[in-house]
Amino acid sequence: MPGEVGKGLQVGVLALQGSVMEHVQCLQKIPGIDIIQVRKPQQLSGIDGIILPGGESTTMGKLARELGILEPLRELIQDGLPVWGTCAGMILLARNIVQQDDVHLGLLDVTLRRNAYGGQLDSFSRTAVIEKIAPHEIPLIFIRAPYIEQWGREVEVLLELEGKAVAVKQGNILATSFHPELTDDLSTHRYFIRKIEQSLLRLYL
Ligand code: GLN
Repeated sequence: MPGEVGKGLQVGVLALQGSVMEHVQCLQKIPGIDIIQVRKPQQLSGIDGIILPGGESTTMGKLARELGILEPLRELIQDGLPVWGTCAGMILLARNIVQQDDVHLGLLDVTLRRNAYGGQLDSFSRTAVIEKIAPHEIPLIFIRAPYIEQWGREVEVLLELEGKAVAVKQGNILATSFHPELTDDLSTHRYFIRKIEQSLLRLYL
């Protein structure tokens, strides 16, 4: 139960590959959180939300499937578990991937393009205000990032750059093309934690 003495929010980070420790370090700066690095399906039970980090979506998806994490995770998200995918994590969530037949979780109603801004050398950073997340400009780091070309009616676009969506929300699902975990700005982590708290309140009211 939330509010139990000595027990914080149970926030999972899928810890198979990629920017796992960067997310863990961000979460450690926010009080009241127990961080679970998820490497086995059993570790999914009892979590209040989960972050899918950046990295390499093909590798992460393959490992998650082989370790028996992908299917239970899909069911939990379908049942309302708050999830946030950054970059490769967004790709894991997508329903359609341009020029790719297989998808991973397939729950976020978008069509996205991988490596949409080019390769490693075309990585870039900029800033933007994302009103839903914070009133100030936040730094955005794009590394071989995807962008969303098309999205369904249930998808709320939080940030669009040149006609492509790079931050979206669909119910309990949050996805960003960029990597807040590689910056000092905790706004997006705090926003996700607020989403988890709201979802728990609805469950326990
Ligand atoms: N290009 C990677 C992929 O397709 C994602 C890159 C990232 O997470 N920074 O999976």
